[in-house]
Amino acid sequence: MKIVVCVKPIPDPSYWARLPLDPKTHTLRREGIPNVLGLLDKCALEEALRIRDSCGGKVTVVSMAPLSTLGTLYQTLAMGADEVVLLSDRCFAGADTLATSYVLATAIKKLGQYHLVLCGDKSLDVGTGQVAPQVAEFLAIPHVCHVLKIDLLDGGRVRVKAKTDDGHIILETDLPAVLAVHRGINQPRLVSLMGLVAAREREIKVWGASDLEVDPARVGLVGSPTQVAQVFAPQRRRRGELLQGEAEEMVRSLMARLEQAGVMPT
Ligand SMILES: Cc1cc2nc3c(=O)[nH]c(=O)nc-3n(C[C@H](O)[C@H](O)[C@H](O)COP(=O)(O)OP(=O)(O)OC[C@H]3O[C@@H](n4cnc5c(N)ncnc54)[C@H](O)[C@@H]3O)c2cc1C
Repeated sequence: MKIVVCVKPIPDPSYWARLPLDPKTHTLRREGIPNVLGLLDKCALEEALRIRDSCGGKVTVVSMAPLSTLGTLYQTLAMGADEVVLLSDRCFAGADTLATSYVLATAIKKLGQYHLVLCGDKSLDVGTGQVAPQVAEFLAIPHVCHVLKIDLLDGGRVRVKAKTDDGHIILETDLPAVLAVHRGINQPRLVSLMGLVAAREREIKVWGASDLEVDPARVGLVGSPTQVAQVFAPQRRRRGELLQGEAEEMVRSLMARLEQAGVMPT
C-alpha cells in the first residue's frame, strides 16, 4: 500500500496577530514566523501510518511550502513517515488553492504508483477545504471529504465513513482515491525529542519547478485565478455605552434606543 500524505506547514497561530501583509501582492510575509503542522494534517499522517503498519507499504509526505519549513517537516519523519518531499521554488510563491493543487498533483504523479492520497479536510489557517478535491480532479481519481473511518476492502476498494450535516454516510470507492480526514478520525501520536533528533539525520528531498516540469503559467501568483483585490483589518464598529441615572430613566432611554435601531416593535 503506497500512501501519499499532503501536509501544509502553517504559521504558528500564536503569531497570527503579528503576521505582516505585503502591500503589493496582498500575501502574507511569513519570514521569521515559526511554523507548525495543523491537527488534521497530523491526523491524515497518523491514519496513513496505521494503514501501513497493518498492511505494509510506504508513507510519503508531500508539502508545498517555503524552504524555511524544513524544520517542521522533520516532525513527520519523527512520527514515522518513510519519505518526505518538499516542493519549494520561488515561482510557487503566492499560489492560490488551484495552483497549489496543480503542483501537489504533479508531484504525486512523479512519485509513481500510489493507492491512497490522504489530506486534512481543511488547513488550520486559510481553511478553504478546496485542495483535496482539486488534487483528486487533477489526478482524475475519486475523492471523499470529512472522512471519519477508513476500511480497506479486497479488490482494490475502500469503504469510508464520512461526516454529513446531520449524521454520517458510508461510501465505497475504487483505489486510488483522495480522502480528506475529519477531526476525530484518530488521535495523532506524539513525537519524542529523541525521535526528532534521529529524524534530523535523515534527508528530505526538495523538488523545484524544473524537477516537476510544471507549466510555469499554472504555478504561483501568475497561475492563480484568485486575485486578492484588497486586504485590510476590519474597523471595530461595536462600542459600549454606559447609561446613567435612575433605573426607570435608564430603561426608558434603552427602550428608545432599541426602537430607534429598529429591533423593538413600536
Ligand atoms: C491569490 C492568493 C495568493 C496566496 N499567496 C500565498 C502565499 O504567498 N503564501 C501562502 O502561504 N499562502 C498563500 N495563499 C494561500 C494559499 O493559496 C493556500 O494556503 C493554499 O492554497 C492551501 O489552501 P487552504 O489552506 O485553503 O487548504 P485546504 O484546502 O483547506 O487544505 C486541505 C488540506 O490540503 C492539504 N494542503 C493544503 N495546502 C497544502 C500545501 N501547500 N502542501 C501540502 N498539502 C496541502 C493539507 O492536507 C490540508 O489539510 C494565497 C492565496 C491566494 C488566493
